[in-house]
Amino acid sequence: MAKDLDIGPALRALGAGDWRSEEVGAKAEALNAALRGGAPVPAGFVLSASAFACLMSDPESVRSEVETAIATLERETGRRLGDPDKPLLLAARLSPESWLPDLTPALLGLGAARVDGRFDLPAPWPFGDEGEGALLRGLCRFALDLSQDEIDDALEASESPEIDALRQLAFGAGAGDSSAFDLVFAALSGMAAAWGQKRARRRRAAAGASDRCALLVQAMPVAEQAGQVCGSGALTLYDAESGAQRLSGSWSAADGTSLSFSEDDAPPDMGDAVRDALVEACLTADAALRGPRELSFVLVDGAPWIVGARPLRASAQAHVRIEVSLAQRGVISREEALRRIDPLRLEEMLHRRLDPEAPRVLIAQGLPASPGAAAGVLALSADEAERRAHAGESVVLICEETSPEDVHALHAAAAVMTTRGGLTSHAAVVARGLDKPCVVGAAEVRIDPARRVLISPDGTEHAEGAPVTIDGSTGAALVGELPIRAPELTGDFATLMSWADQTRRLRVRANADTPADAETARRLGVDGIGLCRTEHMFVDKARITVMREMILADAEADRRAALDRLLPMQRADFARLFEIMGRENGREARPVTIRLLDPPLHEFMPQTERGLRDLAEAMGQPADKVARRAAELREFNPMLGKRGCRMGVAFPEIYEMQARAIFEAAVEVEMRTGAPQRPEIMIPLVSAVREIELLCDRIDAVAAAVKAEREAAFSYQVGIMVETPRAALRADALGAASAFFSFGTNDLTQMTYGLSRDDAGRLMRDYVERGVFEADPFQSLDQEGVGELIRMAVERGRGANPDLTIGLCGEHGGDPATIAFCETAGFDYVSCSPFRAPIARLAAAQAAIAAKTADSAADPGVDAAADADAAAEPARSSS
Ligand code: PEP
Ligand code: MG
Repeated sequence: MAKDLDIGPALRALGAGDWRSEEVGAKAEALNAALRGGAPVPAGFVLSASAFACLMSDPESVRSEVETAIATLERETGRRLGDPDKPLLLAARLSPESWLPDLTPALLGLGAARVDGRFDLPAPWPFGDEGEGALLRGLCRFALDLSQDEIDDALEASESPEIDALRQLAFGAGAGDSSAFDLVFAALSGMAAAWGQKRARRRRAAAGASDRCALLVQAMPVAEQAGQVCGSGALTLYDAESGAQRLSGSWSAADGTSLSFSEDDAPPDMGDAVRDALVEACLTADAALRGPRELSFVLVDGAPWIVGARPLRASAQAHVRIEVSLAQRGVISREEALRRIDPLRLEEMLHRRLDPEAPRVLIAQGLPASPGAAAGVLALSADEAERRAHAGESVVLICEETSPEDVHALHAAAAVMTTRGGLTSHAAVVARGLDKPCVVGAAEVRIDPARRVLISPDGTEHAEGAPVTIDGSTGAALVGELPIRAPELTGDFATLMSWADQTRRLRVRANADTPADAETARRLGVDGIGLCRTEHMFVDKARITVMREMILADAEADRRAALDRLLPMQRADFARLFEIMGRENGREARPVTIRLLDPPLHEFMPQTERGLRDLAEAMGQPADKVARRAAELREFNPMLGKRGCRMGVAFPEIYEMQARAIFEAAVEVEMRTGAPQRPEIMIPLVSAVREIELLCDRIDAVAAAVKAEREAAFSYQVGIMVETPRAALRADALGAASAFFSFGTNDLTQMTYGLSRDDAGRLMRDYVERGVFEADPFQSLDQEGVGELIRMAVERGRGANPDLTIGLCGEHGGDPATIAFCETAGFDYVSCSPFRAPIARLAAAQAAIAAKTADSAADPGVDAAADADAAAEPARSSS
C-alpha cells in the first residue's frame, strides 16, 4: 500500500519498517504494525518524536519535509490539498509514547476546499454532520491559537447559528487568506504547541506518562460513490469483563444514527458484505497486533479502514485470560504474556472488589493503603466499632488515626479509613496484615466527635451508623452499602503464576505475623516468611496484660516471671508458623525469619487514663505507680528512640525468651513432623557491630541450653535488619557478623529522608503533585537516594561475607519497580504482605526477563543456565 518516502528518518511513511513507540508513539506503532500485517490502514506519514520536538520548538525547521511528505501523498492518492474537485483530506492525530486519554482532539478533514466561505467536506462524511464544526473548532484552537474559552465566548456573543459563527471566527481571523498547505501546517504546529503547554505537561507528570510524542498524518478515504455505507465506530474481539473471544462494537452511520452490534446481531444498516469485510479487517489487525485492542474504524463506500488500535481496557481477569490463551495458542510467547500484564492489576483478582456498575457517591478520598472493598455501618471511634461489631453489625471504622490499642477495633471492623497517617502508618500496616480494606490520610474529611458525625469536604454530614463502603483499592469512602464481588482466582491465574515461578530468580517471601497470615501466604505461593513482626503477636487481650506486667516490672526477677508466662504462647505461635511453612511434596521446609521484638515499650501501654486504671487493677498495683511507669517509658519520637535491638540490649531477657521460644518450637516441630527446621532470627534496628555481638552471645547461649535440655541438634541463622543509614555505611563489618541482611526500607527511607513515616501522609500528595518526589518514597523505593545506600551496603556486605543472603522486607517488597531494583542489585529475595505475593512473583519474573534481555544485549552468547545457578539462595549456618 504505502511506499517508502524519501524524506529522511525524521518523517516516515506508514508501513515502512518496524517502528517502536519511543520513536513514533503508541498509536502510530500500532497502526503501522496493523498495516504491515495486511490490515487496511490509510496511507500516511509520521513526524517522529525528534521531528515533533522540532515542530514544537521551531516549526520552520521541518516545514519543507512536511511539504514533501504531503506532496507524496498527493501523488499517491491523485488528490490535492484544497482542490475543489478532488481534495486531499488529511487526518492529524497526536501519537504519544504511552497510551493516554485523547485530550487533544484529532483534526479530521484538514485540506478540505473552501467554497463560498465554508469548508466543503465531501458527503457523506463518515463522522457525521458535525464534521465541519469540529474541523473549524480544531483550526481555531490550533491554527489560530485561540483558547477554548475564547472560542466559547465568541460563539456566545454571536447571534448567528453556531456553524456560521465558527466560520466567521476561523475565516475572519485570517485562516481564509492562507494557502491550503499553510493552514494545514499551522494546524499541525498548533497541535505540537498544545502538547508542550505547561498544563498538559503537568497533567502528564501527574499520570506518570512520558513527554515524548509523535504526530501521525494520514490521507482520509473519501466517498466517491453515492448510496454506499459510510460511517465510523469501534469494535472489540474480546469481552472486556470475562476475556472470552466475542465480537462487540458500535458504529454511527454518516447520518448520525448510532447503533451497537454484537457477535450474534448483524449491525443494522451495514449489510452482511460490509460487516464481513469489517470483521475480516479487524481480525487481520488483531492477528498483527497479537493482543486485545479496541479497533476504531471508518467505513467509506462500504470499505473498512482501521484508524485506531488502542489496547482494550479489560478487567484484570479478562486480561489474564486473554494473554494466557494467546500464549497457549502460540500467538505470543509465555515471556511476552508475563511481560504484558501489569503486576499491580492482579490486585483486583485477589480481593473482594466493588461491582463496577455500583453508583459511586464520594464521601472522602484518601490514599489507598490496603486493597479490597467492604461495606458496613459507620463507626467514628475504635470503641464504637467494637461495640457495633459485637452486636453483629458489619462496621466501617473512620477515625483520625489508630494506635496498637485499637487493634481489636481493626480486627472487628470490616474496613478502616483514617484522616491522618501515610501508607506505613499503624492503620495501614495492620490492615494490610489483616487483609482489610484501608484508606489513610483522608485529610479533607472532618470528624465532629461531639455530634458523632463525619463531614465531607462539601459539607455533607454522615451520622454514625449510616451505611458506607470503603474501596481500599482506589482510596475512596462512598455513600451506602454497595454491592461487592468475591475474588476470582481462576485456572488462568494459576497458569500465569506457574509460568512466573518458572521464570523468576528472586525468591518471594511474605511478611506474616500470625498463622492466618502464613496460611494466606502459602495459598498465594510464597517461598517462606521474610518477616514475622513478633510485637504483633502480643496484641491479644490475654497476652497484652502479661506483656504489660513484664514491661512495668521493677526488677529483673519480676520481668523474667512475666516472660516465663509469655514463653509458651510464643513457642506455640512459632511452632504453627514452622508447620505451615513446613515440608511438602518432597520440598524442603520454607525458611521462616522471625524478628525479635522491635517497637518501643510504651506502645504496649494503655493510652487513656481509664486504660491505665484498668491495668493497675488487673495487676493489683496502685494506679499512680502504673501511670508513673508508663510516663517514664514515653518517648517524644519513639521511631528514633529505645526500640529494636536497643531495647534488646537494655533488657536482654526479652530476646532470650523469644530465642528460647523459637528454638523450642523448632525442636518440637521436628519431633512432630520429622522435618528439620532452621529458624532465621533477625535483629531489628542495628547500627553497630557490638549490638550484634552482645545479642548473638545471648542467643547462642540460649541455643546451647535448649540443645542440652532437649538433647536435640538444630541449626539456625542470625541476621540483621539494615534499616539505619549507619548500618548501611558499616555493612562490611555488620555483614561479617551476620548470616543475612534484610533491608527494612520503611525505616531506612524514614531515616534517610529524616521524614517520619507516620507524618509523611500529611505532605505526600502535595510533594508528589509539585514534583518534589517522583512517587511516594514509602511506597516505591527512592532508587537514587535510599537505593544508592542499599547498593553500597550490598556491595560492602558481600565483600566481607560472600555468603550473605540479602532480602528486603519493607512495604516496598511488593512494589514492582522496587522488585526490578532488587533484581539488578543482586538480592536473593523480597518479602511483602501475603496478598502482594502474586504481584511480587509476576514482577520478579518480569525483572528476570528484563535482566536476561539486558544480558543478551550486552553479550549475545550469555548462557541461560547461569540464571538457574544464581537462583540458589546462599545461606550461612550457625549451629
Ligand atoms: C522496615 O522498617 O522496613 C520494617 C520492615 O520494619 P517495621 O516496618 O516493622 O519497622
Ligand atoms: Mg523497621
